[in-house]
Amino acid sequence: MPDRHDLSAATLGLHAGSDERVTGTPFLAGPVFASAFHLPGDQEGVKYQYGRFDNPTWSALESVIEKLESGPALTFASGVAATAAVLTPFVQPGDTIVVPDDGYFATRSYAQTYLARWGVTVRLVSTTAMADADFSGVKLVWVETPSNPSLDVCDIEALAARVHAAGALLAVDNTTATVLSQAPLRHGADFSVASDTKAFNGHSDVVFGHVAVRDPELLKPVKQWRTLVGAIPGPMEAWLVHRGLATLDLRLARQSENAQAIAELLTVHRAVTGVRYPGLKTDPSYQIARRQMRYFGAVVSFELASAEVAQRFLGSCEMLFEATSFGGMHSSAERRARWGTDKVSAGFIRLSAGCEATDDLVAGIRRALDAL
Ligand code: PLP
Repeated sequence: MPDRHDLSAATLGLHAGSDERVTGTPFLAGPVFASAFHLPGDQEGVKYQYGRFDNPTWSALESVIEKLESGPALTFASGVAATAAVLTPFVQPGDTIVVPDDGYFATRSYAQTYLARWGVTVRLVSTTAMADADFSGVKLVWVETPSNPSLDVCDIEALAARVHAAGALLAVDNTTATVLSQAPLRHGADFSVASDTKAFNGHSDVVFGHVAVRDPELLKPVKQWRTLVGAIPGPMEAWLVHRGLATLDLRLARQSENAQAIAELLTVHRAVTGVRYPGLKTDPSYQIARRQMRYFGAVVSFELASAEVAQRFLGSCEMLFEATSFGGMHSSAERRARWGTDKVSAGFIRLSAGCEATDDLVAGIRRALDAL
């Protein structure tokens, strides 16, 4: 057996957490449900003291995430809880942060609603404009790559160099790619943040998030925030995510294959007025994505003529669940403009390719498009 450090991320994701080969124990220990732990006398140095501070089921998952991310990690109740745990502790009144104007709306909304109220200046920059934005005087830069829902991609290494030269911290929301596709800390980011609700868990049954950091010192304020606001995951959710992680590489491979086939169909179909997928050679994201990502991912975005046409497509395509999430085993899609939160046209659809057989999926989508 090779040294564990030589293992690929796919194998690590599958094996980690099963390191102790004790006769009669399961591969992955079950969830530990506890609010209190035996804690006699001096509590100093005792890892498990109280259920809001730490839990063995979180620790098992966090140790896998640490190996995959190449930096220590903490798990959270949701992706937005993980986001707030990075955006809040590192800024003070008078600081400036940069967030994308075309990324997940709740990140922008949290910064503009709360951080701005507390005296932080929130500068909005589009994902593509991050490449040559001026970061002087900025405390923290937040990017999403690929961005949700428009799938623009940033060169993390180049961005990290510029952000650090300005004396700022770089946080990457890695939800869409997942750490098995790209590990932002290895490209120089200070924080890698993810909504594990999406592909990382992949079974559409859990809301979850995590933060990993390059410098272990950065984890202390993140942990203090989690403990003080109680943004903690349930042990059952942590265990489900750990179990789901074992198949992440398989799922990403199938989803990316399916997404690529769908994107190629959409590119040539007369009903479609625009397509974005980082795996299309003609896509503006392709060159950076092929260098930076192992998989182009599950999400394909495209445009139909109007809201009415898009709803007709979604209502008639038997291969797609109409739902507002992505990265799951089941293919799903939605008309993003229905929320009024994204800079997209009325007929813009975010589609997430699942793990169905490619031929079934492409044939079902083609039938629904032809019927338009
Ligand atoms: N980041 C991105 C890119 C997302 O798409 C989402 C949710 O859609 C989040 C963060 C928030 O995650 P959660 O819904 O798990 O809180």
